[in-house]
Amino acid sequence: MDKINNLINKNLGDICLKEPLSKHSSWRIGGPADVLIEPYTIEQILEIIQYANLMKIPTMVIGNGTNLLFSDEGFRGIIIKMGKNFSKYTIRGKKACAEAGIWTPKFAKILSDSGLSGLEHTIGIPGTLGGLIFMNGGSGGKCIGNVVKKVWAIDKNYDLISLSQKECDFSYRKSVFQDSDYIICKIELECEFGEKERIKSEMRKILDNRKNKFPLNYPNCGSVFLSNPIVNDIFAPPGKLIEEAGLKGYQIGGAQISEKHANFIVNLGNATAKDVISIFQYIRKVVYQRYGLCLESEVRYVGELGSLRSLHEVGKIE
Ligand SMILES: Cc1cc2nc3c(=O)[nH]c(=O)nc-3n(C[C@H](O)[C@H](O)[C@H](O)COP(=O)(O)OP(=O)(O)OC[C@H]3O[C@@H](n4cnc5c(N)ncnc54)[C@H](O)[C@@H]3O)c2cc1C
Repeated sequence: MDKINNLINKNLGDICLKEPLSKHSSWRIGGPADVLIEPYTIEQILEIIQYANLMKIPTMVIGNGTNLLFSDEGFRGIIIKMGKNFSKYTIRGKKACAEAGIWTPKFAKILSDSGLSGLEHTIGIPGTLGGLIFMNGGSGGKCIGNVVKKVWAIDKNYDLISLSQKECDFSYRKSVFQDSDYIICKIELECEFGEKERIKSEMRKILDNRKNKFPLNYPNCGSVFLSNPIVNDIFAPPGKLIEEAGLKGYQIGGAQISEKHANFIVNLGNATAKDVISIFQYIRKVVYQRYGLCLESEVRYVGELGSLRSLHEVGKIE
């Protein structure tokens, strides 16, 4: 407890103790974190991780928690949340620079107001820019990596380094950040000039389309399974496979395979992480039995003691 009290007395950002992680997850699931800190500066982030490493306290960096399933037991360590405190930006010509905590849809709107094109496809993705870079997320066949010029990150030696687009090693929903301990701090994007009205109308179309397709009235984590499986040489979206297997509406505890879009698991109100993992494993088992296909997940599970794994690595297909 002394270790934690020492932290409170430092100026490291906004600090909460025993913070329910359900408040920081779009699934609204997760037990308490011992400590959650929202830093304002790179210096504060450095101080937090140096202190935590010295004291052997587990740490975990999160953005908006829209791609994470937290354990029901919470997290025995420090969650570093990169959010609104860490979201300054600048725009010069076609170059747009932002801190990792900026909310992606907000940044996409800011760019469109400046007549800059490149982030239209991210308008409905409810995470931070740092989280989007980590996941190389995107929609409509596009990925954020395509417009990245440079990323500044803290490495394991506590140095702030810069990585070029090539060094970020982006591919479908993958980036170098997933296999490293980098903390993404700042991102430079190279956009294109475009006509404001065209950019805005494209974004409106995307949002309308998503509202029609996705079950946005229940807490969820977006698409649960990666959209790249191939069955008999044909691209097969996981939502279609799960629907064909008759699983829409299937429920375990408070978790349900959405009636609206089968690649979404929704929280009907009181779902636990255990419910989500059980229903996830059930889907994988049924799809494997029917198609011989092992679906993989975009969503990551944060264990109580700090492990971070893709959801499909948590349970095995029996
Ligand atoms: C309704 C809904 C719709 C969605 N639609 C899409 C979609 O169309 N396309 C898509 O790609 N995704 C989609 N998602 C998933 C999710 O929003 C994205 O992956 C998003 O980019 C994650 O950002 P985040 O800030 O929430 O990251 P988090 O979920 O908080 O974190 C995700 C991962 O990134 C790491 N991370 C976050 N910030 C940093 C940082 N600064 N430094 C180092 N590591 C970091 C975390 O450790 C974690 O492993 C959707 C989610 C929801 C709920």
